[in-house]
Amino acid sequence: MENADIQNLYNLPQRRGSEPITVLGIESTAHTLGVGVVSYPPFKVLVDARFKYNPIKGGLHPRLVTEFMVSSVDKALKEVFSEISDPSAIDGIAVALGPGIGPQLRVGITLARALSLSLRKPLIPVNHAVAHIEIGRLECKLQDPLIVYISGGNTQLIVYKEGKYRVVGETLDIALGNLLDTFARETGISPPYIVNGKHAIDICAEKGSFIKGFPYTVKGQDISYSGLLTASLSHLKNSPGSLYDVCYTLREIAFTELLEATERALSSTGKESLLMVGGVAANDYLHNKYKALSEERGIKYCRVSKKYAGDNGVMIAWTGLLGLAHGVTIPVEAAVARQRWRITEVDIPWIY
Ligand code: AMP
Ligand code: MG
Repeated sequence: MENADIQNLYNLPQRRGSEPITVLGIESTAHTLGVGVVSYPPFKVLVDARFKYNPIKGGLHPRLVTEFMVSSVDKALKEVFSEISDPSAIDGIAVALGPGIGPQLRVGITLARALSLSLRKPLIPVNHAVAHIEIGRLECKLQDPLIVYISGGNTQLIVYKEGKYRVVGETLDIALGNLLDTFARETGISPPYIVNGKHAIDICAEKGSFIKGFPYTVKGQDISYSGLLTASLSHLKNSPGSLYDVCYTLREIAFTELLEATERALSSTGKESLLMVGGVAANDYLHNKYKALSEERGIKYCRVSKKYAGDNGVMIAWTGLLGLAHGVTIPVEAAVARQRWRITEVDIPWIY
């Protein structure tokens, strides 16, 4: 991507000389310890170290995930410092303070505090949801899209307005990724949740067809998934032979609810472009539905690359770099976990 494009997208201050800014970013909000290093200008990913916790059975047990993260820290740092031979080249340490799960967050935050103190570099607070958006905006070069942010813990429709991101629609209960993962786990088709880039539900749905009568809940621009999850599990309990059909139906209803809320949000906000980000954005079936919707409405549509859809340190580093360029830093003692940090609370100084 050209520097001029990025400059336009992000209102980045012109820097004297051509010295790039380099930021290290740490992600540990849920299942992945990610440490990324990016620099700009020009935009470069110098390090993208990732250690993802994959449960053998069950969900994300915080103690087991944090043990895994702690035991991955030395490997992550080895990757960083084999690439960055001079640590003084790093201008700032960014860390996702939330939203996320407390014990996991504290692993990343402790590492960030230690690096900030030992390298004597400023600490930059990053909101995880903002980071998913900024890496998508960067890749897609979209100035002012309606954002569909879908991941394990979040399902939100978001727009930028007057210095902040605003939530214009969201799930009233569980997130889309959580719906897919919980159903897959409860029925024993997962783990693993993802096989060859496909969710277990997609593979199961390929042999299924639609069952009528499952709950479909859209309220204005908000949606609900927990009734759908309960209905799917109880249907399966009563007719154990219907797994493929239930997979198909659950996926169809979940995605269609999201599409309907998205269409409503497009109409009410008047946005002319659509950006899909977050772990579930890697889903090709949903991607094709959004492509068709956008063609029909004549709007631009783009999704984050699969590489940066799921949690990673690069998106935290990039958002941290934007923060640092606009003076957003905090003292180390202020770096504390913010489990429920809403995106609407975050100042965004890098959009006009
Ligand atoms: P994140 O928390 O942003 O890393 O996103 C993780 C979520 O994305 C989990 O719920 C995964 O099951 C989900 N996910 C990852 N790949 C896919 C895919 N191809 N289709 C649907 N969901 C996916
Ligand atoms: Mg995420």
